[in-house]
Amino acid sequence: MVAAGSAVPLIAAEPGARRITILGSTGSIGRNTLDLVRRSPSLGIVALTAHQNVELLAAQAREFGAELAVVADPEAYGELVRALEGSAVRAAAGPAAIVEAACLDADLVMAAIVGAAGIQATFAALARAPTVAIANKECLVAAGALFAREAARTGSTLLPVDSEHSAIFQVLDQSRPETVARIILTASGGPFRTWSLEQMAQARPADAVAHPNWSMGAKISVDSATMMNKGLELIEAHHLFAVEAERLEVLVHPQSIVHSLVAYHDGSVLAQLGAPDMRTPISLALAWPGRMAAPVATLDLAAIGQLTFEAADTARFPALALAAAALRDGGAAPIVLNAANEVAVEAFLAGRVGFLDIARTVESALDRAAGRLCCGDLGAIDEVIELDLAARHLVHEMLTAS
Ligand code: NAD
Ligand code: MG
Repeated sequence: MVAAGSAVPLIAAEPGARRITILGSTGSIGRNTLDLVRRSPSLGIVALTAHQNVELLAAQAREFGAELAVVADPEAYGELVRALEGSAVRAAAGPAAIVEAACLDADLVMAAIVGAAGIQATFAALARAPTVAIANKECLVAAGALFAREAARTGSTLLPVDSEHSAIFQVLDQSRPETVARIILTASGGPFRTWSLEQMAQARPADAVAHPNWSMGAKISVDSATMMNKGLELIEAHHLFAVEAERLEVLVHPQSIVHSLVAYHDGSVLAQLGAPDMRTPISLALAWPGRMAAPVATLDLAAIGQLTFEAADTARFPALALAAAALRDGGAAPIVLNAANEVAVEAFLAGRVGFLDIARTVESALDRAAGRLCCGDLGAIDEVIELDLAARHLVHEMLTAS
C-alpha cells in the first residue's frame, strides 16, 4: 500500500508529547488544543503563532507562559510588543519568525494554520520536532509527497488531526497493508446536503459557514459546504496512509458520529465513533501512543437512535470529483486545486462571487493551468510554493477578468 514517491508510511512509533508549539493558536484547532493543554498539567507551551489577532495571541502566550509569540502580519509587531509588555514572552513578526517558532525545541508541533500559508513552517517543523500533528491539510494536498520524504529523512512522526484521518489511523492495520480492501472517509454532507443547485446558487456566506455538526474556521466551513473539504481529505489520506486513489471512497453520513471506516478483504469493516468534537482527535495526537481524557460529550447512541448513510452526489458537489481527478493526475494539479479553491473561497466570503462559482473557478483554473503550470516531479518545497503563488495569480486574473 506504499504509494509511488513515498518510500515509507508516514506514521511510525513515537512516545507521547509534552512541550508543544502551536502554529495557528488563535484558530478553531488552536483554541481546542489550548483547551486540552490547560486541563493537562503535564503539557506545556513553547511557542504560539497567529495571523493578525494580537489581543488573543498575547493573552494565550501570557496564560501558558510561552517563550515566543509570533504574529504573521509584520505591521502588527508593535502592537504585539505592547500587548506582551511586562511578561517574559518574546515577540516576533512575519513569516520567517513563524518558521523560527516551528523550529524551537518542542516535543510536538501542532500545525493548525489554515491554507498553503502554513506549508513553509510546517515543513520546517519536520526537521526539528520529533512529532508534527497535522490539522493543516492543505500542506499535504499541495506537498504530500515532499512531506512524506522529509519525514522519512528526519525521522519525524506525522500524526493526523483531521477527525477522519484520526479515525483511520486508529482502525487501519498499517503493518498488514495487503489485508486492506478500502478506506471509506465519511462526510457530513455540510449545510447544503439537501439543497438543490438552484438553492445553492443563492447561498450566502452566512448559510455556508453554518455547519450542522462542527464548529470550525470560515474556510473549512465553506469547504464542507462545497464538499471540497472531503476532496482535500482524499488527497490527505492518500499521503498519510500511502493508499492509492482507487482504494479511497467517500460516504455521506449526516450525523458525523462514524468518523471513517476501513474495510478489510475478509469482509470486516472497522470504524471509529465519537461525538463530533475535535478535542477527541487532537487529544489522541497529543497523547499518542497513549490516550488522555478529553472533555467531550459521552456518545449516547440510544439517544441518537439512527445513523444514516448515503452516496455522495458529485452533480451537486462537483468539487469532490475535481479533487479526485487532481489526485489521479498528480504533479501540479493538487497544488492548483488547492490554491484556486483558497482564492475562490476568499472571494465568496467577501461577496465577490457566488457559491457555485467556487467549484467553477477551480475547474477552469485546473483547465488553464494544465498547459501553463505543468511540472514534472516536484523536487523541493520552494517549487511547490512557487506553483501555489503562480496558481493564485492565475485565479486572481480570472476573477478580475470575469
Ligand atoms: P481558523 O481559521 O479558525 O484558524 C486558522 C489559524 O491560522 C489562525 O490562528 C490564524 O491566525 C492562522 N492563520 C491564518 N492565515 C495565516 C497566515 N497567512 N499566516 C499565518 N497564520 C495564519 O481555521 P481552523 O478551522 O482552526 O483550521 C485550521 C486547519 O485545520 C485548516 O487547514 C483546516 O482545514 C484544518 N482542520 C480544521 C478542523 C476544525 O474543526 N476547525 C477540522 C479538521 C481540520
Ligand atoms: Mg475532516
